[in-house]
Amino acid sequence: VRGVVKLDFSDSDAAFRESVRAFCREHVPDGAPPRDVRSDQTAWKRALIARGWQAYRLPADAGGTNWSAAEKFIWERETSARGLPSQLPGMGVAMIGPILAGFGSPEQKAQHLPPILSDRVRWCQGYSEPGSGSDLASLRTAAVHDGPDYVVTGEKIWTSNAHEADWMFGLVRTSSEGKKQAGITFLLIDMRSPGVAVHPIVTIDGQHHLNRVTFDGVRVPEANRIGSEGQGWTVAKGLLTHERTGLAFVSLSLHLARNLRGAARELSADTPDFLRRVTDLETELRALEVTELRTLADSTNGAAPGVQSSFLKLKGTIIVQAFTEMFVEAAGPYAAPWLPEIAHAGSNLEPVGPMWAHLETIRYLNGRAASIAGGSDEVQRDIVAKHVLGL
Ligand SMILES: Cc1cc2nc3c(=O)[nH]c(=O)nc-3n(C[C@H](O)[C@H](O)[C@H](O)COP(=O)(O)OP(=O)(O)OC[C@H]3O[C@@H](n4cnc5c(N)ncnc54)[C@H](O)[C@@H]3O)c2cc1C
Repeated sequence: VRGVVKLDFSDSDAAFRESVRAFCREHVPDGAPPRDVRSDQTAWKRALIARGWQAYRLPADAGGTNWSAAEKFIWERETSARGLPSQLPGMGVAMIGPILAGFGSPEQKAQHLPPILSDRVRWCQGYSEPGSGSDLASLRTAAVHDGPDYVVTGEKIWTSNAHEADWMFGLVRTSSEGKKQAGITFLLIDMRSPGVAVHPIVTIDGQHHLNRVTFDGVRVPEANRIGSEGQGWTVAKGLLTHERTGLAFVSLSLHLARNLRGAARELSADTPDFLRRVTDLETELRALEVTELRTLADSTNGAAPGVQSSFLKLKGTIIVQAFTEMFVEAAGPYAAPWLPEIAHAGSNLEPVGPMWAHLETIRYLNGRAASIAGGSDEVQRDIVAKHVLGL
């Protein structure tokens, strides 16, 4: 019944949860501390692939698991409790996978889905441009038809992990006539093509995630176009909705909530006022979790996530950022002498003070970007104001 959320699981869901726990236990035993960002996930990724669980959100015929909404929910919670990624990391499975599944030709699916599912390629997303972020439809990177190719010239910015990517899925302008959305086309661009250059941007957390990518007469075969020419906006909108549903950060906030009290106790920062604020935040998180469950239930019944995804992204961002702020507050002076290199996989640098103080400070700094990436807080508020409140 719509509006009623059942919070206990059926017998078959409980059995599924046991099988998931047994699988996860092989990598992180019961009672062991959850993995942190520095751990090597190679064995876990191999196990996910061997089991066929590496892309559980994709449709079954594109490599997904065909799990129910409840099963997906169980999987996400059980993996996050042990610090294990719930799917292959990066934008392959999470972002271009659903687009290929929904809009790709049989040839494009055959070319790109197998290497994505076996973790052999890296993808990046080339949407934003200087001056075209929130107002994405104003993008100017031009693609001009020339024989069997498009010739692409222009610039993308804030491109996460472009420096490690083999392929970019991006939006280009193929026409300036009529509505600006109607002149946009969706292309898959081989990052090794002549004329592609990647320029690093180092962020406040001291890490290199972001880049500026320039295109100087880059030839892209027409066969790399997803959908028809001018249909790029429709293709991208499907992906943006998908992106937003994964952006409530509930699993991450639950993980932070589990560890915050213990961390504060270690440094005697667990004053009554601090603990009261943790409890307030946990209450907000519980409400968000139930909202996410309701969205899941609606999507199982065939409804599109729609405006709820804006609300989830906005509220999820506020909550996860509040948790990271409380970690920094608990870390006190140990939040200051941080070493960005400490977060690199395999790093054996020794911190001053507890390790969590350093890792959580990096997470706090990195987490500021959540208010912008994937659609800014202000833009999400606008959507909620217009479509929920009718303002
Ligand atoms: C960490 C990170 C990773 C990213 N990764 C990628 C990526 O991989 N690929 C990619 O293509 N892009 C990526 N982006 C870019 C991201 O999508 C844009 O930054 C975002 O859409 C905002 O656009 P902008 O930066 O141009 O800011 P602008 O759109 O110029 O916004 C500036 C400010 O104005 C406000 N504003 C704008 N329009 C309105 C409005 N109509 N009403 C009220 N306020 C408004 C915004 O909220 C913001 O505060 C990433 C960004 C970050 C921070």
